[in-house]
Amino acid sequence: MDKIIRCITSDGSIMASAITSTNIVATAQQVHSLSPVATAALGRLLTGASLMGAQLKQRRAALTVRIKGDGPLGVMVASATSDGNVRGFVENPNCETEHYENGHINVGKAVGSNGTLYVVRDYGTGEPYTGVTELVSGEIAEDITSYYANSEQIPTVCALGVLLDKQDGVLLLAGGMLIQLLPGATQDICDKLEANIKKLDSVTTMMAKGMAPLDMCKAALEGFEVEVLDEMPVHYYCTCSRQRVEQSFASIPDDQLRSMVNSTGNVEAVCHYCNKKYLFTAKEIEDFIKARKERSKNK
Ligand SMILES: [Zn+2]
Repeated sequence: MDKIIRCITSDGSIMASAITSTNIVATAQQVHSLSPVATAALGRLLTGASLMGAQLKQRRAALTVRIKGDGPLGVMVASATSDGNVRGFVENPNCETEHYENGHINVGKAVGSNGTLYVVRDYGTGEPYTGVTELVSGEIAEDITSYYANSEQIPTVCALGVLLDKQDGVLLLAGGMLIQLLPGATQDICDKLEANIKKLDSVTTMMAKGMAPLDMCKAALEGFEVEVLDEMPVHYYCTCSRQRVEQSFASIPDDQLRSMVNSTGNVEAVCHYCNKKYLFTAKEIEDFIKARKERSKNK
């Protein structure tokens, strides 16, 4: 089972969270039939978004990270709730996989290093908050680090890992870490943390050694007293429903809605995040249009 743990140093100077996300990434791979590079890229983004979502304190808050680079993967989206559950999709799930000379999958080339990373935080209270930053490398962890530095002025270290079997592309491990300096951290604390991070193995190496999320946080925060804030199971979870699809019809004009009825007499709506199909009969569409007219008359 995947989980997130969030820790803070007793002096309140550093927050660290760690996630194991192997099941989340495996589900995404299966739902979207992802190529190896698409698995690595979307897997990293889902892992990062889950960590970022879990930072939101408000219940039922949601966070969406959208990356639009100039590489062949196209647009990539991951959306997480404040309990760390996450879902996502990528425009080109079949994207061809290329490798660096050291054998690692070249995620940066598939995403593209020119483009933008958007973060939308929705607290469910009206206007969502949007932050934007330019992509640094398209390798995702660096791009999220840069987002926090530029858009939120929070010194952050983000590490994300998705490990696939080199022979058959089977997903082996996925996980990540997000470490942030809190206001008031002294230079000494920064130096100590930096030295710890230099020594740290990659996330998937730590996982392969059998380290749990708490062990990863403790390794990053070696020499500090560590308190656990919370620990939660996390899943690939889609929040779509028939009702939400119907709500999305609200912005579509009558004619256009009617033109969406296909040769079998239905409107078929497919959820981008989980590929679930929702069917609405032509009669249901007419009833929806009629009800909408009634409502606007009564306004
Ligand atoms: Zn869905």
